[in-house]
Amino acid sequence: MKLLEGKTAIITGGSRGIGKGIALVFAQHGANIAFTYSSSVESAKSLEKELSIHGVKIQSYQSNAADYNESQDLVENVLTDFGSIDVLVNNAGITKDNLLMRMGEEDFDKVIEVNLKSVFNMTKAVQRTMLKQRKGSIINMSSVVGVKGNAGQSNYAASKAGIIGFSKSIALELGSRNIRSNVIAPGFIETEMTAKLDEKTVDIWRNSIPLKRGGSPEDVANACVFLASDLSAYITGQILNVDGGMLT
Ligand code: NAP
Repeated sequence: MKLLEGKTAIITGGSRGIGKGIALVFAQHGANIAFTYSSSVESAKSLEKELSIHGVKIQSYQSNAADYNESQDLVENVLTDFGSIDVLVNNAGITKDNLLMRMGEEDFDKVIEVNLKSVFNMTKAVQRTMLKQRKGSIINMSSVVGVKGNAGQSNYAASKAGIIGFSKSIALELGSRNIRSNVIAPGFIETEMTAKLDEKTVDIWRNSIPLKRGGSPEDVANACVFLASDLSAYITGQILNVDGGMLT
């Protein structure tokens, strides 16, 4: 069964990792997809080709989600190209890990801008369209780290915890217009972001997870399909942990 037939979704950071996984599964479920990236032009173009076999409309856009004006322009362009926006997945994110002792101001600000301000930028940019349509689903990618903190990631944890507060507030503000806002908190998902870690650290992570494995982008994408689809029509303001039981 195709759960997203006829819906148009914007996915930020779709060129790699979890965002790419979401684009693949959304396309299988019949969604038209506008996805963004920061610099990976080649991967974005090859993903466009890969997704088009599903017979849906696909377009990639190079757009910095941390930039307010670029986000406004992006949404204008998507509306021109697609005609509507039903789903926004705020997935773009970066890490710049360090202990507080060694963390510079720039690394704090950059992570907050790309991970948290981007969610404000994009939500603000789609708001008018979703209000007019009187429907919409916004899915914000937080992290288990935003819920419980992590040594060496105070900037990242702050950005991901901020997303939770923002998302719950938007759920309260826009619920009366049938616009839903939910958070996904992935645990340890094996992508390029985690490939930067050494193998020993990765093994420690895997062993500490009740399901005894890292998650895949597809695991997160399946949760996104649920929150994007009408199956979750009565669910807003929630955090869905996709973490193999890590937070249990
Ligand atoms: P990833 O493999 O590093 O991919 C990041 C994506 O975001 C890429 O498509 C990248 O584009 C894009 N991006 C980066 N900065 C951007 C910007 N300023 N504007 C627009 N796009 C930008 O990361 P991932 O592991 O898939 O993570 C995706 C999301 O899940 C992030 O928000 C991350 O915090 C969250 N998360 C990940 C894990 C995990 O274990 N992997 C766990 C919890 C939460 P380019 O390819 O052009 O650089």
